[in-house]
Amino acid sequence: VALIVQKFGGSSVADPERIRNVADHVARTVKRGNQVVVVVSAMGKTTDDLIRLANAVITNQSGPVEKATKKGDVPLKGDSREMDMLLTAGERMSAALVAMAIQDLGCPAASFTGSQAGILTDTQHGRAKILEVKADRLHQALADGFVPVVAGFQGVSTARDITTLGRGGSDTTAVAVAAAVGADVCEIYTDVTGVFSADPRIAPKAHRMNRVSFEEMLEMAGSGSGVVALRAVEFASKHNVRLHVRSSFTWEPGTIIESEDPTMEQAVVSGITHDVSEAKITIASVPDRPGVSASIFRPLADKRVNVDMIVQNTGSDGKTDISFTVPKSDLAVALETCEATAVTVGAEKVTSQSNIARVSIVGAGMRTNPGVSATMFETLAQAGVNIQMISTSTIRLSCVIDAEQVEAAVQALHTAFELDVN
Ligand code: ASP
Ligand code: MG
Repeated sequence: VALIVQKFGGSSVADPERIRNVADHVARTVKRGNQVVVVVSAMGKTTDDLIRLANAVITNQSGPVEKATKKGDVPLKGDSREMDMLLTAGERMSAALVAMAIQDLGCPAASFTGSQAGILTDTQHGRAKILEVKADRLHQALADGFVPVVAGFQGVSTARDITTLGRGGSDTTAVAVAAAVGADVCEIYTDVTGVFSADPRIAPKAHRMNRVSFEEMLEMAGSGSGVVALRAVEFASKHNVRLHVRSSFTWEPGTIIESEDPTMEQAVVSGITHDVSEAKITIASVPDRPGVSASIFRPLADKRVNVDMIVQNTGSDGKTDISFTVPKSDLAVALETCEATAVTVGAEKVTSQSNIARVSIVGAGMRTNPGVSATMFETLAQAGVNIQMISTSTIRLSCVIDAEQVEAAVQALHTAFELDVN
């Protein structure tokens, strides 16, 4: 007997038939004597459809407009409050439908919005952070023999407005709820059978991992693995919530994500990830003096540009080239900002490239095994792949390469680090 959080993603609840399958699985889990809390995403592509609907209604406004600030010090964007109100409806629909389908099988169930489930957030619309989960209503529902079905991706702010947690936020809801109710495991049901050693769409020899440590999963989620949202993994790792990523199409056991088992031998490299969502900016010939980097990156931070890999190298002429990556969606803003900065700091020019990819190797065993970087660089060289930028953490090594070569690079690395299944 266990207390289990079962989270179902959009594809798992995409239509009535899938919803009935989900309900059947939940009811079976309950009949085996477990307590279950369900967390759901919006059906299929509902969130995208709602965003398109909003865009069709707003015609006189090209982007978010800063309106008068509400009381308190956090400026609200006028439309992001309404956007949150709109988008949370998607999860609310699927929560009610899943609860009905569970009831239909003779198992008591009750749906809850994020607010009703006690998910308290800060006031940043569109990317709110969970401050606290007041789980008393969930506990009460469980004690009364109900399956609580929580609408994911949402909460209520300290200003009593409805908020969303950012795209993919239902994973975060699930983990936060699991931590708050003290669940034994948080099962994340999706349309793939688990976490793979590389993206099977581009690396046909990739295999499903049986288990992966929080640390490795953090690096994988941060470098392109989209199976579980990065924030959810961070939360799980911080609160030590065991995750089980598995398929709601085959229901077979998937990948367990949990704290590292120190008695187990660690693979040098466990997985290869890739990410084509970033672009590269280079600011050439920046005068080399204290404060220059600060004067470049502060304005970017103020514009909320998410800067990732940064490479800076001082040449013999006392000038520095600074390159870094940003999400493609931030490229236009970042370029504009950097061009202004380049003038004030006396840099020569700003260039950008958006057809880049980042390939990374991740493995806890990298800490203790020298020579991993040499193998990575040799492998890429043999595959004819040129490396533009390199960055490392203790258990990850990333290279920025040409986007066209990403498949070849991932496949070659997968083979070189002995991850291929035959
Ligand atoms: N429905 C939201 C989204 O599409 C949240 C989620 O799926 O986790 O981003
Ligand atoms: Mg999702």
